[in-house]
Amino acid sequence: MAAPKPAPEPGRPKRLSFYKANMNSIAGDGANVPWPAYTSRLDIEPELAVVYGNAHQPVAGYCIFNDVSARDVQVPEMVGGFCLTKDMAQGNQLGPYLVTVDEVGDPFDLAVSVRVNGHLRFEGSTSEIVGGAEEVFAWLEVMAPVAPGSVMGFGTIPDCTGLDHGDFLNPGAQIEIEFERLGTLTCTFEQPQALLRSRWPVRPSLLRYHERGGDPSPSTGRFPMSLEQVSDHCYAVINAKNRVCDANSGYVDLGDGLLFDTQSDLPHAHQMIDLFSSVWARMPRYVVNSHEDIDHVGGNQLFPGAQIIGHRSLPERMREVADPKEMLQLLFATSTPQLRTFIQAGHRGMAAMGRQLLEDYDFRLMELATPTALVDDTLVLHLDGTEVHVIYVGPCHNVGDVIVHVPSEGVVFAGDVVFQQCTPIAWAGRYDDSFRILDLIAGLHPEVVVPGHGPVCGLDGLEEMRAYLKHVREESAQAFARGLTSLEAAKQIDLGQWAAWRAPGRVYMNVERAYRELRGDEADLPWDRAATFDAIYEVARAKGLPVEF
Ligand SMILES: [Zn+2]
Repeated sequence: MAAPKPAPEPGRPKRLSFYKANMNSIAGDGANVPWPAYTSRLDIEPELAVVYGNAHQPVAGYCIFNDVSARDVQVPEMVGGFCLTKDMAQGNQLGPYLVTVDEVGDPFDLAVSVRVNGHLRFEGSTSEIVGGAEEVFAWLEVMAPVAPGSVMGFGTIPDCTGLDHGDFLNPGAQIEIEFERLGTLTCTFEQPQALLRSRWPVRPSLLRYHERGGDPSPSTGRFPMSLEQVSDHCYAVINAKNRVCDANSGYVDLGDGLLFDTQSDLPHAHQMIDLFSSVWARMPRYVVNSHEDIDHVGGNQLFPGAQIIGHRSLPERMREVADPKEMLQLLFATSTPQLRTFIQAGHRGMAAMGRQLLEDYDFRLMELATPTALVDDTLVLHLDGTEVHVIYVGPCHNVGDVIVHVPSEGVVFAGDVVFQQCTPIAWAGRYDDSFRILDLIAGLHPEVVVPGHGPVCGLDGLEEMRAYLKHVREESAQAFARGLTSLEAAKQIDLGQWAAWRAPGRVYMNVERAYRELRGDEADLPWDRAATFDAIYEVARAKGLPVEF
């Protein structure tokens, strides 16, 4: 349970992080562990455990601890503490004996092995544990006296879990965890009753426990996302909130499958996978990133076996604009009172943006996974004999925009060159690029366009976006001629029916984009993001419209 942290203060107990386990779910050797309905990734965690004796003899002995864990619910619980993940019945297994210190030898040099159904599956050692029992007791005593008989685990032995290897255990698994000198702790994972929908894709071996008719169904997950079939073989996951970061994903269910965009963070990506898993039998072979923004690439790391396709500019651009560390810093600052006050004083819009993201987003554990197959112009894939076109159309919304066209299905997955029912934004490209690309998509004669944000549309949706852009560009030109700044102009422009779109204050970006052209600025002039969010905030406030991003 305890994981030592670095940098102790001299002469003081080393700070450790730990969590408390459910004392009502302690089990012994030979336990039958019921399979909770909410998980399809029940896993073991072999740990070395120390038992506290008393003040004279703090270490009473050592034993094995199997900290049974449900992996598919673990990430969201990292925010509030482990409950579903660790507290299931019989989930804290100890044994088979308490081995006294004189028998153990060096507890931090013991070989560990895991056998499943009689076959060796995982191997490790206690030698990677940092720190000892005395450190654990010393830190716990800072909080409260440690009662005789208390058991402390030292954390999972590396390489000894299903999570380490992506090799999860099945119902009925007979598990033997052997620690040199400590004995062998055995348990059996029981057969589940009907499983609830998992946050992660359904494993083929668990399909029979799921009540699935194969019909696409609305999400039962945490976010208001839903699955839509848009043609015979094309599907979309639509993010109903439709604010910044609430991006859509698409899926072409032909051949080995093609996924379009991977959501903004791991919780959303897991829910997207969960939704698509009622359609796909296995994770797709191709993943296309529509462009470099984090809300379209954030789940890339969950597709390690896929070929990730993107425009040639993406690896470099993603490092510039989609680094999860920056999002983590913003959310950390927004959730820390003193820092929040500091940001609010200088950047009210930035602070409001952070608060909005905190409602739904969690960028922890995210790693930048850049495309491995780079496209310069057009790439034609053949999925089960059907042509799928990946077409570079940037710069428009950003530098590396591509769309996916499935001609035989009449479907275009547009990414952020098309927004619906929310105010479009662009970080690159010019108005004429936006109009050129709307023309290009219309020229493909799609029956269905899946926008980057907002509900699925047809050609009418493209015209709606074009009308908005034309209106704002014309109004901006007039305001420019009258000598207004772009911020003043954005506050004054009448949005008409478009005031009802999500995040109306983002009109500022469209006005500023027009001003850049009117001023003759360089096309790739970078945006000051903090100042931009502040301006969006001010515009929404001035118009009496919702402050949204
Ligand atoms: Zn987006």
